[in-house]
Amino acid sequence: MFDSVLSAGVLGKALEKGLIEVKVHDLRDFTSDRHRQVDDRPFGGKPGMVLKPEPIFAAVEKVRIDLNASVYLLSPQGRKFDFRVAEELARSSQIILICGRYEGVDERVNKHLATDEISIGDYVLTGGEPAALVIIDAVSRLLPDVVGKMESVKQDSFFEGLFDYPQYTRPRDFRGMRVPEVLFSGDHKNIAQWRRKKSLEKTAKFRMDLLKEEGKLSPEDLRILDEIQREKEGKTNEPD
Ligand code: SAM
Repeated sequence: MFDSVLSAGVLGKALEKGLIEVKVHDLRDFTSDRHRQVDDRPFGGKPGMVLKPEPIFAAVEKVRIDLNASVYLLSPQGRKFDFRVAEELARSSQIILICGRYEGVDERVNKHLATDEISIGDYVLTGGEPAALVIIDAVSRLLPDVVGKMESVKQDSFFEGLFDYPQYTRPRDFRGMRVPEVLFSGDHKNIAQWRRKKSLEKTAKFRMDLLKEEGKLSPEDLRILDEIQREKEGKTNEPD
């Protein structure tokens, strides 16, 4: 599951260059019984299997290089993973992600081993592996040199608390759908203003909560937001 994602694209290159290191561990390697059993029936009845604590504790104790490494249990019940959590994880020299399966993981792992429980969204996956890959990808691209130009990471959605602006490429006219004229004006100040306005417009429309983060908006942003509001109310007929 991990190899295909980790061998391609930006992540593949980052691993090749040694900018990041990802090690995948099989919990069965940390068992001591003949059947290499990692799961068992839940106490108290009910169907399904639960991942046992011993192999998980043994695995984490063995792979932890940095004693301060954070240990994250992947779980739909955890703290919601977002850009800010990715930034937090990117500051660690090592992060350990525990992937559950079946009905989940013995609660003692959560209570006594994990530093935090992380969810990638309000839905239930069959296992923690896709969640781990999402986290590895989102965290890695914040690390120096992983994405060629840090400038493009900074311009992406969330970095400055806003959505990215809309992007266009050739052809200029596709089936009558035209690229906004301003992008051909050659007036960089005008283009930057248009882009900022589009970012603010879309963020205000779908994620007002992002705009409310303190210190994100300049007086010019507030002026543009006011202009957007007035346009919405039909008080000005400025073109798109
Ligand atoms: N019984 C658990 C519950 O309802 O909370 C769900 C277990 S789920 C079928 C199996 C494993 O997938 C979990 O232990 C977890 O590691 C992983 N998983 C499922 N959904 C996830 C999510 N939204 N975020 C992170 N990991 C998730």
